[in-house]
Amino acid sequence: MNGMSNNWTVTYEGFDEKEHPLQEALCTLGNGYFCTRGALEMMPHKVKVKKSADKDVKVKIIQGEGGKEWNYPGTYLAGGYNRMESRDGLIENEDLVNWPNWLYLTFRIEEGPWFDFSEAEILEYKTRLYLKEAFLERVIHFRDQQGRETLLVSRRVVSMEHYHAGGIQWEFTPQNWSGEVTFRSGLDGQIINNNVERYSDLNQDHIEVLKMGHFSHNSLYMHSRSKQSRINIAQGTRTRIFQGNEKLHLKQKIVHREGFIAGDFKVECQQRQATRLEKMVSFYSSRDMAISDPLTEACTLLERLGDFQQMLETQKKIWLQFWNRNDIVMETPQDVDQLVIRLHIFHIHQTVSHNSIDYDIGVPARGWHGEAYRGHIFWDELYILPFISLQMPQLSRSLLMYRYRRLSEAVHSARKAGFRGAIFPWQSGSNGREETQKIHLNPISGRWLPDVSHLQYHINAAIPFNVWNYYQSTGDMDFMLSHGAEIIFSTALFWSSISVFNQERGRYEIRNVMGPDEYHTHYPDREEPGLHNNAYTNIMAVWVIQHALNMMDLLDEPCCNDLESIVGFTAEDVEKWQDITHKMYVPFQDNIIMQFEGYQNLRELDWEHYYQKYGRTSLRLDRILEAEGDSCNYYKASKQADVLMLFYLFSSEELTKIFEKLGYEFSPESIPENIEYYRKRTAHGSTLSQVIHSWVYARSHREESWNRFRQALMSDFRDVQGGTTHEGIHLGAMAGTLDLVQRCYSGMEIRDDVLWVNPRLPADVKSMSFHVRYRSHWIKMDIDQRRVYIEFDKGWANPVTIGVCGITHRFETNDKKEFNL
Ligand code: BGC
Repeated sequence: MNGMSNNWTVTYEGFDEKEHPLQEALCTLGNGYFCTRGALEMMPHKVKVKKSADKDVKVKIIQGEGGKEWNYPGTYLAGGYNRMESRDGLIENEDLVNWPNWLYLTFRIEEGPWFDFSEAEILEYKTRLYLKEAFLERVIHFRDQQGRETLLVSRRVVSMEHYHAGGIQWEFTPQNWSGEVTFRSGLDGQIINNNVERYSDLNQDHIEVLKMGHFSHNSLYMHSRSKQSRINIAQGTRTRIFQGNEKLHLKQKIVHREGFIAGDFKVECQQRQATRLEKMVSFYSSRDMAISDPLTEACTLLERLGDFQQMLETQKKIWLQFWNRNDIVMETPQDVDQLVIRLHIFHIHQTVSHNSIDYDIGVPARGWHGEAYRGHIFWDELYILPFISLQMPQLSRSLLMYRYRRLSEAVHSARKAGFRGAIFPWQSGSNGREETQKIHLNPISGRWLPDVSHLQYHINAAIPFNVWNYYQSTGDMDFMLSHGAEIIFSTALFWSSISVFNQERGRYEIRNVMGPDEYHTHYPDREEPGLHNNAYTNIMAVWVIQHALNMMDLLDEPCCNDLESIVGFTAEDVEKWQDITHKMYVPFQDNIIMQFEGYQNLRELDWEHYYQKYGRTSLRLDRILEAEGDSCNYYKASKQADVLMLFYLFSSEELTKIFEKLGYEFSPESIPENIEYYRKRTAHGSTLSQVIHSWVYARSHREESWNRFRQALMSDFRDVQGGTTHEGIHLGAMAGTLDLVQRCYSGMEIRDDVLWVNPRLPADVKSMSFHVRYRSHWIKMDIDQRRVYIEFDKGWANPVTIGVCGITHRFETNDKKEFNL
């Protein structure tokens, strides 16, 4: 099967232009500081030059000689954003910037043309992504038009150790010829952001090259800057060439043109003898800490970097240590499952790692792997942080700090919208202002449409929910006191200020919002955007408010007083909070929780018609219907889990408690009915959706859960959304599947200071094993259909209580215990 060779290596055999963009995204290498797509080295950035009517869009003429549209070299700095105006200032977007391409490396034989993929006959082409060792390898065996056959093996590393460094190694072996070869090794700043076709009418020209030159006879540098955010990036390269064990003493001939610099190295190559080229790279930014200036640091590191082999060896060592703790081993009938689980762990760690700690970045929905959603941070954290918190809690804390630092902007947003407390943005970038675009393009109809998704205020529940869960799994009260509690109180204050008491109903309501289901933006008969009483939002608001109240019991009085004055809530607010937890409105139709008020009045959609026309996996009904002159707003048709989110986030006991307090009769027996109701009406237009559907079936219908788990698992690997993965991976679905294994199938839950496990594996899962980091301990869990084995590591902290299937046990250093299920 293309895509795998064993469960540690992703292998693609043969070259296919159409498959390349997907492979390029999945073969991205990164270290939590910067990421580079798995593009081919020998092609520059190529842009289809479009004529734009927009005078703001100054089309940069990209030379891109030899470039191909299917090859997109993208290098992204974590949190490296820049804003640009388009359409006479009507649109302003903040994008994740694509920085100069450090991969650029090509060659020509004798005086022939530079290597051109489409001119050569490709005899063998193989790409291997080694997950265990974290490097990328490509084997290209080709014959040129003169009948010369050459074998080129390329290896690439983005260093986890020196997170400011990367490297490429080429082994270039003439098979049936000898002759002079010129290698060209460069830095290409002739680029714009161009990874997402839908954005190509907007201004995407984010960077300018300020300076370039060489540090020494075999090194080069490029200093570039983003135009608005003024982030400075310095990149250095050092190229060395070896034959056998001998390092060749070559002097580069510098070639430069606007925004591009390279060194040419001429080498006599012999038949069947490998010439080894190494291009080592340094990468610094003005966002970095502990630096003088980026260019000085890029130059210094380049002098200090060892050779490629050393970098690769250290890479293997560091990643091996990582896998020893962070691997998830799962035995299922399909080997590919294990491979993809590791691929997901791999990409999460490349996006955010220990190198990201304190770097002031959030966790982006699409990784730093492509330009979709502009590298923005969404509520997807809700799917990602639970996994990270149980693996690398200090990283979770850092990701939560990204939010905390933007709390004052959120307070300002709330004020601007006429509320108190804080409204975190639906899409967040550099400074925490709302980055959701105002209009977006429907690529099917070609129409630009208003985007009102900023009304997804429910993100203000996801953030405090993550804060609380981080605290639960770490017991980090210091964080709570210094930062977490303020987030909880500020969002609680927002929720109470948006909740309005309806005298007639005798209940509080939240009006004019959007739930997670983005297909519904307003009522069919109303122009004004927003819906009333989205059940998920209302219940989450109650949850946040309840936790603010709980916090007041937890904190000492001076601390509470401080927070009262910082956040600005009063005794009257606290009274209202109490009231809301008893009187929030939740729409029901018989036993079914209605997604929002009035959902029951919408029409049923002819699902079969659309399935037959567009397939069953993932329907972008919003785009399809709009192109047909229709709208999802008329139908009971959801993009993704909305009401069902409640069964994902809460156990039936917790949910029953919330409803009981609200004075609603809610029986856990009605959960399957609710699931069935929304199953029939969900298009899974977001990859997040199947994660939730798998989760909510986990206890009641294990086979169904497993099927959906596998669909979620394959989201990116098989690009189930038909061509979105090349614009960036879906980190929420990636982490969500891991969380399904780690927390859902193991039945893991932290409640009342106890780490509970209550496994129920799908029939196809013979066994699974992983480590979790809980209260400063590393705990190993081995679970199969009949038993749980728990091994306790040396921990720093006190003993902890672990509950297995309802019975609690105390665990101390080095304890190992087995339990029958
Ligand atoms: C989903 C959102 C999600 C966003 C980023 C959208 O398609 O509907 O829930 O936050 O993608 O992943």
